[in-house]
Amino acid sequence: MIKATTVEQVKKYVRECKKKGKSIGLVPTMGFLHEGHASLMKRARKENDIVIVSDFVNPTQFGPNEDLEAYPRDFDADCKLCESIGVDLIFHPTPEEMYGEKNFSKVHVDKLTEGLCGAVRPVHFDGVCTVVTKLFNISRADRAYFGQKDAQQLAVVSRMVKDLNYNIEIIGCPIIREEDGLAKSSRNTYLDEEQRKAAVILHKALSMAEQKALDGETDAALLCKEIAEVIEQEPLAKIDYVEAVDWDELSHTDVIDGKTLFAIAVYIGKVRLIDNFIIG
Ligand code: AMP
Repeated sequence: MIKATTVEQVKKYVRECKKKGKSIGLVPTMGFLHEGHASLMKRARKENDIVIVSDFVNPTQFGPNEDLEAYPRDFDADCKLCESIGVDLIFHPTPEEMYGEKNFSKVHVDKLTEGLCGAVRPVHFDGVCTVVTKLFNISRADRAYFGQKDAQQLAVVSRMVKDLNYNIEIIGCPIIREEDGLAKSSRNTYLDEEQRKAAVILHKALSMAEQKALDGETDAALLCKEIAEVIEQEPLAKIDYVEAVDWDELSHTDVIDGKTLFAIAVYIGKVRLIDNFIIG
């Protein structure tokens, strides 16, 4: 596996692959890789000749009061996991390498970025769209793999690719969970033992609502109310949002009418966790 730290290294490798007519799958990550990331890499491995993983804690998607410095990192462990899956190249640039001394450009998607996590993380999706655009251009990937764990990100990137005619296919992958249902996340390492137990409430509340929706309940407002009620039973949990939105535009909806995303963000202590399900 090639460990690349510069844009030029990746571009050179990609030029050689393209010359040989090889297809490229890209998995963008912020590192500290776990089985959620591994599921994306394995899918990319199956569907492409070449797999590139980016491992970059992107500073532009963190707000001033967010956890950029504290974000967990373990590049050696990441390399081992990537190698075991058969990744061809891991791209691990510094912020200076990615953004240079001067950078005046960014990519912005309207509307889909305004609600849900965008409401409390105003710079987040511009940072995501810009870094993802850069990674698409550097890797010239045919396919890029994103987890439904970050459902808004998946919807926003899919919309960006459609609106701006990027030559790349976006593949959404299912949420990988711990045995007790908590969605795997690098941020779970911030939870102490008691908080970790309490965090199961997110999945518990969502599965209750998902089952009711599968049984025919179409009142999305009612389901959101019930999700909130379950979460409020957990003293360590504080709801940021519980929302139902249509999948296409991420606009608020009170009824399940077509593909609908139920998304939640909940603080367990100071740790903000997100989870969701999609129905219809
Ligand atoms: P991150 O490193 O947190 O930026 O995540 C990189 C990619 O892995 C994103 O597309 C995430 O949605 C995806 N991902 C993270 N956690 C999970 C999970 N538990 N299941 C599936 N995909 C995940």
